[in-house]
Amino acid sequence: MEQRERDFLKREFAHFYAKHEPNYPHMIESREFGFGFEKKIDFRHKRFNTHEELKKYLVTNVPFFCSYSVAYYTAPEAKPMENKIMMNSDLVFDIDVHDCGKHPDKFVCDECLGRAKADALRLIEEFLVPDFGVAREDLSVNFSGNRGYHVHVNDDRYRGLKGKERAEIVNFLNGIGLDAGIFCEENPKTNSPAWFGKMTRCIKTKLENGEIKTPKRADYIENIERGIWSSIRESTWFHREFEACKKAMAANVDAQVTTDVHRLIRLPGTIHGETGLVAKKVVDLEKFDPLKDAVVAGDEEIEVEVTESVPAFAMKGQEFAEINNKKARLPKYYAVYLIGKNAARLL
Ligand SMILES: [Zn+2]
Repeated sequence: MEQRERDFLKREFAHFYAKHEPNYPHMIESREFGFGFEKKIDFRHKRFNTHEELKKYLVTNVPFFCSYSVAYYTAPEAKPMENKIMMNSDLVFDIDVHDCGKHPDKFVCDECLGRAKADALRLIEEFLVPDFGVAREDLSVNFSGNRGYHVHVNDDRYRGLKGKERAEIVNFLNGIGLDAGIFCEENPKTNSPAWFGKMTRCIKTKLENGEIKTPKRADYIENIERGIWSSIRESTWFHREFEACKKAMAANVDAQVTTDVHRLIRLPGTIHGETGLVAKKVVDLEKFDPLKDAVVAGDEEIEVEVTESVPAFAMKGQEFAEINNKKARLPKYYAVYLIGKNAARLL
């Protein structure tokens, strides 16, 4: 990105920071902050003792990326890391887009974003609430500002977990180590806890709706209801469908983000410099549409030159056709998005 484009984005973001407060993290004085102007994090080890200090920093410096530590430290500004003295650390899950393969990786589409949202909903509704007993009011969900969601568990019981324990949670959520043999020996029913119940319900549904084709369908369903798996595990379809259900039910969380207790994570309420979208705190995930609800730039049209092949895209309810290396008049919010992605320049 050239200086001219950089200055343009900076002016846009400065408008935003002049008018909006970020979502200040719990115990701000114990958090390490990191900021990016070129990269996601150009420097870190920053400390703010008050909300006003952070707000002033954002308004004055207008960073392109703002992150804060999931950890709480006695001295978040200290270097190297061990001198910070960690007290504990929020439990956070990162759900990212799995590319649909229909466009270059740097772009997204409704399908990609929809899958990430479905993963986040599944993480909450199928795992964190029923299996871990996390109260809904202790969960917060943030759009990352680009392609995914961060789910934060604001519950003291989880803040003391070490990296290794967090890794076990990730394995559980992603269904790693879930074994068909052990599953069958447990003779699970649809109301069995955690994965046993989830997998049983998945396989039973597939039998009921005819996705699994077998003449002994009714017998199998009856056996599942009674918790008898001996004949099912001998069937030709069982292992294939077991793996398919495991894949469909897994939460697909990023292992690195959750296990790294020193991680810096996007601060909600700040702008993601690569999209111009705000990393928004989500109130109703089911209804949330990032390409509408996280847009901050205005509608006025500006002229840009698109410098690569950009797939068709929809933003703020407006459909934009594919654009290949040419001049275009675009609403500012879309121009900001393409300039941030380094796919357009000002004219
Ligand atoms: Zn896609």
